[in-house]
Amino acid sequence: MIHRAYRYRLAPSEEQRAEFIRYAGVCRTVYNIAREQRHCHWRQYLRATGKHINFASQCAELTALRADFDWVRSVYQTCTAQAIRDVDRAFRNFFAGRAGYPSPRRKGVNDSFRYIGREIRVQRLNSKWSAIRLRGIGWVKFRDTRPIQGSIREVTVACAAGEWHVSILCRIDCDPLANHGPAVGIDRGVANTLTLSTGENISLPTSLVAIDSRKRRAQRALARCKRGSRRRMKRLASVSRLAARITAARRDWQHRVSTDIARRFGAVAMEDLNVKAMTASGPGKRGLNRSILNQGWGAFATMLTYKLEERGGTLVYVPAAYTSQTCSECGSIDRESRKSQASFHCRHCGHRAHADVNAAINILRGSTPAMRVEGAGCGPVEARTTPNPALAA
Ligand SMILES: [Zn+2]
Repeated sequence: MIHRAYRYRLAPSEEQRAEFIRYAGVCRTVYNIAREQRHCHWRQYLRATGKHINFASQCAELTALRADFDWVRSVYQTCTAQAIRDVDRAFRNFFAGRAGYPSPRRKGVNDSFRYIGREIRVQRLNSKWSAIRLRGIGWVKFRDTRPIQGSIREVTVACAAGEWHVSILCRIDCDPLANHGPAVGIDRGVANTLTLSTGENISLPTSLVAIDSRKRRAQRALARCKRGSRRRMKRLASVSRLAARITAARRDWQHRVSTDIARRFGAVAMEDLNVKAMTASGPGKRGLNRSILNQGWGAFATMLTYKLEERGGTLVYVPAAYTSQTCSECGSIDRESRKSQASFHCRHCGHRAHADVNAAINILRGSTPAMRVEGAGCGPVEARTTPNPALAA
């Protein structure tokens, strides 16, 4: 069983667009009220009832809210309940250490609402167009770029830079296939985005870096504008347009690379990266690449996981410790062996290699017990098939 998300750009009518904005506004308000309640009133609630505020208690309050206010009742019930569900998830993720403290949702940034799968109908109109029935809003057309597989679990309608999209999460029940493709280790880095143990190097497209520097310039110009001015509104729109372009270009790159890797290899090993270490920013191009990548590793791993699963392959995580300081030939660990960012020269056996390729080979070895170098001194290595929770969030 695998999960897969399909994302399409919606083509709503003017009335539907207005309804989207209204739905997103009400759901955002419900979210912010529920968040505020957990943030400020949990102690009083605990004293009064002996229990913590939870999903069920907030849903009961939502029912009361819907009875009292027309503007809440006018939005389809599930959408408001899903906003409460989001608050619940956000706090769960926070308490589990997977995410930061939930912040309020903002207009223009978090414009979305969600349905559950069984309420949704999708119908094909012709070879290019399909329509989705969103309860309370009606049938909305979208350009059908690829067929949906499996059963629909969740449907999210969200706005990014003035365009409304629908994201359809499906569950596909399938028998695991046997994949006998070769194994590969992947080193993720900042100077070289991805280095494979085969010696290959895959970098972010240069266009992405160019758009990112344009976005930075636009952000600086925005900071100089007077609050509430017309010029500021224009600048804000151009920043969010560029941000959306970066997201689209990054997603495109992630899809192309993850498909290519999943097609060629049966088993992929990657490091269990510490997300905190990755978020620190550095100077120049490396800092730039890092900031572009920061929002991308989790999504890349998710894509690679489902693409491998579809083909019967696996993704394994190995501990990141010592992968860059270990010699892939003799297994000795020495900080001095890694002379620079690019080159590895073993002080014990004289082996020379590209530092990232050397690390990728070590990552591959870490994932397969039989190939693990004995006496390497890094103790028993546990390979896992789930990502670091901090990274998956
Ligand atoms: Zn060596």
